[in-house]
Amino acid sequence: MFRFHSISDYHKALQNGQTTCVEAVRFYIDAITEHAYLNAYIEVFEEEALTKANELDELRAKEGINTSLHGVIVGLKDVICYKDHAVSAASKILQPFTSIYSATATQKLIDAGAIIIGRQNCDEFAMGSSNENSAYGPVKNARDTSRVPGGSSGGSAVAVQAGLCMVSLGSDTGGSVRQPADFCGIVGLKPSYGRISRYGLIAYASSFDQIGIFANNIPDAAVVLETIAGDDEYDSTVSTHPVPAYSSSLTPPPKAYKIAYFEEALNHPALDPTIKKEIKNTIESLQSAGHDVQPVSFRLLNYVVPTYYVLTTAEASSNLSRFDGVRFGSRTKKEGLDLTDMYKATRSEGFGEEVKRRILLGTFVLSEGFFDAYFTKAQQVRQLLKQQTDTIFTNFDCIISPTVSAPAFKLGEKTSDPIEMFLADIFTVYPNLVGIPAISIPLYTHENGMPFGLQLMTAAFNELTLLQLSQTLMAKQDERI
Ligand code: GLN
Repeated sequence: MFRFHSISDYHKALQNGQTTCVEAVRFYIDAITEHAYLNAYIEVFEEEALTKANELDELRAKEGINTSLHGVIVGLKDVICYKDHAVSAASKILQPFTSIYSATATQKLIDAGAIIIGRQNCDEFAMGSSNENSAYGPVKNARDTSRVPGGSSGGSAVAVQAGLCMVSLGSDTGGSVRQPADFCGIVGLKPSYGRISRYGLIAYASSFDQIGIFANNIPDAAVVLETIAGDDEYDSTVSTHPVPAYSSSLTPPPKAYKIAYFEEALNHPALDPTIKKEIKNTIESLQSAGHDVQPVSFRLLNYVVPTYYVLTTAEASSNLSRFDGVRFGSRTKKEGLDLTDMYKATRSEGFGEEVKRRILLGTFVLSEGFFDAYFTKAQQVRQLLKQQTDTIFTNFDCIISPTVSAPAFKLGEKTSDPIEMFLADIFTVYPNLVGIPAISIPLYTHENGMPFGLQLMTAAFNELTLLQLSQTLMAKQDERI
């Protein structure tokens, strides 16, 4: 029977003739059907995935494997465009809408030989922390189906967790890749702002958004990153920094790292005691391995969530104004309305509760009379956070923290209290506010049986150190098992 461990093992098995791309696609199609109750996929591209697999099997017979993601089966969060395929941001307002072009990340996957297996469920317009805000219904955590998978990229996380694809792409504006990776026990990587082109990613908050990667292990995340990162003429905010060969440089140089942790994060009253204990153990084992691990103060910690929600809702209210039933989106069926009432009816019917809440909040913080008190203030806090971050990285290689303050909660547990839900993001929004890369790696299991992760952060565009340290920590954990 087909089994997947890593992309490199899969490539070896293809080369030895032990498996084929067609066998792999069939395996995943069956697995997706069997696990339909998890609600991870909105649509599966069964026939075309099989056709592509067949083509790749024929190509390999002639040429061998000469692209990085040959036959790799990838799922896309339903906010990433794929030409001639529907994309909906898990919203009613975009039903039906078909992408007229592919996102740069999608195109790079295809050029590297990947097989796109389907589009994955998420919170509407990537707004949420539990995947309960989807027009297609909630996604369930495969480890315990009474619990949420995290959000907003919940479907993409569960697809990797439950073996319904090899890797998937999500988007991370304030933790939407790392938080569900933490809840599901897998790797979730958010690169630096601008590392991967945002062209073809449906925007939530453009100065925060970044495509991220879900994988079972660090080498797989690294090979996907090096394939899809880099300059792009279609995104003026993408970086021209050269893309290192991450996957072939995962062994860290033999040196003692300087690692910081935030005292305020580890002593936060909302932090689950088991998570605190496990992270303290990791700090001690890093110290006994010869690394210099020290506390640093993060006085602004309690301001990050409000700052994030002021700025992202402001950007969202602007980004989502295009969904008006004229430029984009399905139009209300009500007849005889003037233009303004038609907009109102379309948007009231098409958007879900959470998206409406954020558009209202964003419009409010941008409105005359409140702009300085909220928007300008939040920009100032963002600036302070950037300065503080630069200072930390002049002295340290890496910062570690919990990814989330508690493991996956029960479905419905936080839906009535948006503030509670927002607070689940306290440790993940900071890297997006300052544009640095961050990753969640699945190192721990809670006594309630749920997995949780460690978050690592490095200076902007230092994904290499991030991946090397993550690889070392994950390898250590494998030894323990
Ligand atoms: N949970 C956060 C929010 O709801 C993060 C979302 C994301 O990263 N897309 O805004």
